[in-house]
Amino acid sequence: MLRHPIALIQRQRECSAVAILFHCPWENADDWFAALQAEMPGEDLRRWPDAGDVAEIDFAIVWQLPPGALRSFPNLKGISSMGAGVDGLVADTTLPDGVAVCRLVDPIMAARMAEYVAATVLYYHLRQHEYAAQQAATRWQRLPPRDAPARPVGLLGLGQMGLAAAGALASLGFQVGAWSRSGVNAAGIDSFSGVDGLAALLGRSEIVVALLPHTPETTGLLDAAAFAAMPAGACVINCARGELIVDDDLLAALDAGKLGGATLDVMREEPLPSAHPFWRHPKIRLTPHVSSLSEPTSGVRILAEQVRRARRNEPLQHQVDIARGY
Ligand code: NAP
Repeated sequence: MLRHPIALIQRQRECSAVAILFHCPWENADDWFAALQAEMPGEDLRRWPDAGDVAEIDFAIVWQLPPGALRSFPNLKGISSMGAGVDGLVADTTLPDGVAVCRLVDPIMAARMAEYVAATVLYYHLRQHEYAAQQAATRWQRLPPRDAPARPVGLLGLGQMGLAAAGALASLGFQVGAWSRSGVNAAGIDSFSGVDGLAALLGRSEIVVALLPHTPETTGLLDAAAFAAMPAGACVINCARGELIVDDDLLAALDAGKLGGATLDVMREEPLPSAHPFWRHPKIRLTPHVSSLSEPTSGVRILAEQVRRARRNEPLQHQVDIARGY
């Protein structure tokens, strides 16, 4: 039986949809684009906003694409974030229905995060923040050291990033506890979940590291009540998203001496506006969202495999549960 001509035309258009949309605002976007071209020779790669005929695009590789940009792409099969976080994509309620969304999961990124977390935990563990304050006051005074097994560290999130960080900290000898939604168990790590679990972990952790996705449940999680629950002089490290922290509550807890210091790799607004008090606070250290940068060399291989999977109509790896938010 002959199919309806409009259905046939639609089918032909779907079959000819073999182009990839790329959008990346990073400094090394040209390196990523060149690496993708080298990894997928002959592929029709198009850089936003020069998408051409959007019906020809079947896959999108994006970071911080303007919300609504993919609304009118009729033949998309998959969208991949260029990073581990997907909060920007999840927040875009106009994504075409039924299109699989995945995130970049690369062992190199987890290893980089583990290094950043280990280095920063060691900074506070070795009282470097207190020595920095002493130096500013021209003061020479030895402070008693503490051994790593006596230093409890709490991770919020035990996914790809949290597990790598937990492994690095455990290998240094720290007492590691981790809070997750499901209470994941990992060898040598004390596991916590739920509201009571969060209170228990915060209550014992002298260094708290945030490695959670930004979702409605995690927004503002680190507020005055959370800081009050931590031991006096506790230090906070945020490698997740700025929205997890209530900025004014953090400043108040630092100024009151409740918290000993904070290292922030992520902010609510990036780049951080020059007038923001975080820039000049003596107890705050900032880095410009670099704790686990995506790596083009390995990243393009992972992304190319996701494109191949989409075209074979196979499930993408590391798909995001849009309803759950990560
Ligand atoms: P992931 O593998 O999806 O792990 C997320 C973890 O958070 C899981 O353990 C999950 O619990 C837990 N979680 C989520 N919502 C929760 C909730 N409401 N209550 C308790 N636990 C919750 O993600 P990932 O790859 O580790 O990355 C985590 C986040 O780090 C990303 O979303 C991104 O925001 C941030 N990140 C930042 C950088 C950077 O350079 N600064 C780089 C990479 C990632 P379950 O295990 O039970 O699911």
